[in-house]
Amino acid sequence: MKLLTLHVDYINFKPLKKALKNIADLPEKEKSGEKIGESLVVMTAIERGDLIKETVSELVKNVKDIASQVKTKKIVLYPYAHLSNNLSKPEDAMSVLDKSEKELSKSFKVSKAPFGYYKEFELKVKGHPLSELSREIKSSESPKETKEEYDVKQLLREISKSKLDTSKLKDNDHRILGKQMDLFSFSDVAPGMVFWHNNGLIIYNELVNFWREKHKEDYQEIKTPQIMDSKLWKVSGHWDKYKENNFVTDYEGRPFLVKPMNCPGGMLVYKNSSKSYKDLPLRVGEIGVVHRCELSGVLAGLFRIIQFTQDDAHIFCANEKQTKEEILGVVNLINSFYKKFNLNFDHIELSTRPEKRIGSDKEWDIAEKVLEEVLKENKMKYKINKGDGAFYGPKIDFHVKDSLGRTWQLSTIQLDFALPERFELEYTDKNNKKKRPIMLHRVIYGSLERFIGILLEHTNGRLPTWLSPAQVRVISFTERNVKYAEKIAEQLSNKIPNLRIDTDIRNTTIPSKVKDAELMRIPYIIVIGDKEEKSKEVAVRTRGDKKITNIKVDEFAKMLKKELEKKL
Ligand code: ZN
Repeated sequence: MKLLTLHVDYINFKPLKKALKNIADLPEKEKSGEKIGESLVVMTAIERGDLIKETVSELVKNVKDIASQVKTKKIVLYPYAHLSNNLSKPEDAMSVLDKSEKELSKSFKVSKAPFGYYKEFELKVKGHPLSELSREIKSSESPKETKEEYDVKQLLREISKSKLDTSKLKDNDHRILGKQMDLFSFSDVAPGMVFWHNNGLIIYNELVNFWREKHKEDYQEIKTPQIMDSKLWKVSGHWDKYKENNFVTDYEGRPFLVKPMNCPGGMLVYKNSSKSYKDLPLRVGEIGVVHRCELSGVLAGLFRIIQFTQDDAHIFCANEKQTKEEILGVVNLINSFYKKFNLNFDHIELSTRPEKRIGSDKEWDIAEKVLEEVLKENKMKYKINKGDGAFYGPKIDFHVKDSLGRTWQLSTIQLDFALPERFELEYTDKNNKKKRPIMLHRVIYGSLERFIGILLEHTNGRLPTWLSPAQVRVISFTERNVKYAEKIAEQLSNKIPNLRIDTDIRNTTIPSKVKDAELMRIPYIIVIGDKEEKSKEVAVRTRGDKKITNIKVDEFAKMLKKELEKKL
């Protein structure tokens, strides 16, 4: 229920006509209304779901509390439906009021305004700090009435049923690789959201580490909250423009949005301190997890998901010239990433103003021009994608070709005049004047999850050694060799910090151990038999190569260390 208490010098009220059809006629003496002097007016709205007994006791408790604070002995119970748009049945409301009146009458002189009538009223509120208070009373629902009966075993069976159907997938589908290599899984309890297993999370974290290495000199890194008040998203425009893709939640009755983008949080960080032209260009990265509602029918493994990680960054520039330089800087960074992952750059698309957009046409003209000029000046080939820009600005998308000849859009650079305007971002220029920065949004991996899916299919799971969940496996030939195999693994761990090495000392055949290691796409398999123990060498089988090389442990360690340091 909702409660509004007013400590008044007086209140006059008079019923006019029935507001509810089935309400009883009033006794003659109540028809003319009442005039009451100094008192506590308790305006009430009983709401759906309020339990009568609990609500009465809470109401009485609250009124007693307030009355004692304002030191009054007179209470006026005043039904006031306008406090809520979720009213209970009239019978329940009347029951709460009658019972409360009876209860309060034990300690106060209680009057009650008629329920279910339009009333005119006039009052004079005292105006001291406690004279106007509002409260919300939530009656704790009794377990008997609300406890749903769950068949836990049945629910668990339903949850466990969501298994990957591989019948229609190609062998190199990342979902099959993910299962073989124990990287990740999905469950129907979280559609389009990844359950990362230890092996998969290793890849994810390595990609993040690499990203941080590449950004640490020129970029700052921040992290902003996952859900934020709708006010913020109304300012940014996401509340209206992206409605169908948003997950909405609430906190203490305030609507909140699960962030579909990182930018608005980043805007607040920018605004947190004053900026000067000397701070620009300011490059701020955020590896942010975002949620975008997608229909379950279009979800596909890591390629199309609801929850994903963006390797976002916003670059704040002072002018068009700086903006162009920054765009070029990002282009170079993007190229160095693609090179690292052996992805072949395919083409660029320039996407222009969409139908749903914010910002003036003039701003869009300039923004599109700036992007096009960078592309032209640097002789980059591009196609125009009419109407496919973000709602706040045009963008350049980078498409790569994978080993199967498929093209993927990974990186984007978006130019944005609109958000700085909406958030009133400023910096002080050389002449001490306030100016609006120009903003770039950019991602390189795009979505980390999707990037991992592409990499897996591109390499058929044979990730470069630095990204491989397990990098070396030591296999014992017979039981005699177990000790020595473990010793070799330990030696290599000591020589190469953070090496991901494991052993397979099971009592099975060598071919089956090798097959298991190959299924996991482990880059190096070391087999230890009597011969190796004697010669103090190791027999190394390199992934994808049938040939076995005999090599001294030290030499192998040196080679591997170099490979990992260079992230080959
Ligand atoms: Zn952004």
